[in-house]
Amino acid sequence: METLLKLTDVNVFYGAIHAIRDVSLEVREGEIVTLIGANGAGKSTLLNCVSGAYAPTSGEIWIDGQNVTHMPEHRRAKLLGRVFQDPMMGTAGNMWIEENLALALRRGQKRGLRWGITQKEREMFKEQLRRLDLGLEDRLSTKVKLLSGGQRQALTLLMATLQKPKLLLLDEHTAALDPKTARKVLELSEQIIEEHGLTSLMVTHNMRDAIRYGNRLIMMHDGRVAVDVSGEEK
Ligand code: ATP
Repeated sequence: METLLKLTDVNVFYGAIHAIRDVSLEVREGEIVTLIGANGAGKSTLLNCVSGAYAPTSGEIWIDGQNVTHMPEHRRAKLLGRVFQDPMMGTAGNMWIEENLALALRRGQKRGLRWGITQKEREMFKEQLRRLDLGLEDRLSTKVKLLSGGQRQALTLLMATLQKPKLLLLDEHTAALDPKTARKVLELSEQIIEEHGLTSLMVTHNMRDAIRYGNRLIMMHDGRVAVDVSGEEK
């Protein structure tokens, strides 16, 4: 399988804090990597470097054969799907469910929402929402801010994968949910990842989830990759 994500000698300093130390890493197409580590180990910083929210102090980042080290976040957004810890972050609360989905579908295109949403798109949205099994397919014109945290994360997940990103970044995306909802959103994530054959990088604090999900586990400690195991070994 092709290498989809490559980090070479990445270092990140926040002033005197050396948050990422000489991290080199290759993720192949189709790998589902869970990233675990104590508070402050550097997991979010690493994800932020991949997404383009921060530039590394040194080193290079490649996604799908492109050197994205200095590519601005909005330009690499079309390669990536991302779901954050905070359910408020991935969706526009004041817009309807169908408007949010339409924006996700038009990501990277000039054509915005002013052309309206076609009947065909609406049918597709309904079908996708039905699969979430949260009853959202009958609420296309409900404002997203009225949804529960779990419903909102499920919708964000759908939006992040609507255009089949090269790489899906899940940043403790179930940490703010109650255990039952968290389980449901994790199962949904697994289902969507498998269905589209997505390569993904999931940060979690939960060792059990890190072992249960994905086919490769990376543990970070003090800014370095401390453990990196795949398949049987995992
Ligand atoms: P957590 O599990 O608590 O989210 P993490 O593994 O994601 O932790 P990071 O958030 O990447 O860890 O933090 C790595 C180190 O960098 C920590 O020492 C943290 O205090 C520091 N750090 C992170 N962001 C900043 C920032 N914007 N400014 C200064 N220091 C930062």
